[in-house]
Amino acid sequence: MSSMKDLNYISRRTLLRSAAFALTVTPLAVFLDANTALAADGPLVNPNDAAAKAVHYVEDANRAKGAGAGSKCANCALYIGSASSTQGPCQIFPGKQVKAAGWCSSWAPQM
Ligand code: SF4
Repeated sequence: MSSMKDLNYISRRTLLRSAAFALTVTPLAVFLDANTALAADGPLVNPNDAAAKAVHYVEDANRAKGAGAGSKCANCALYIGSASSTQGPCQIFPGKQVKAAGWCSSWAPQM
């Protein structure tokens, strides 16, 4: 059976752990949020850029060679834009946006 002293010790320890976790996670969350905001304001990926060509990025999935039926940026696991957006950030193009209707060879299904 726990004594009141033990319970106080556990509570204080739990509180300290929670505070340490919050201090660790908060700056990361602010950093990630700032990154997302920057990417959301970023320019569109130019399909003629070397990085875009390397993954065969196109702005219209219907014109993509090798795209599976219905696959496009909007339903890709790497797309960060909102479901109703026409364009949004993509994890493989930091600081830039892709068309929701686009596609590239790195397309991956959402889980
Ligand atoms: Fe679009 Fe996904 Fe390729 Fe990014 S990784 S460009 S979201 S298909």
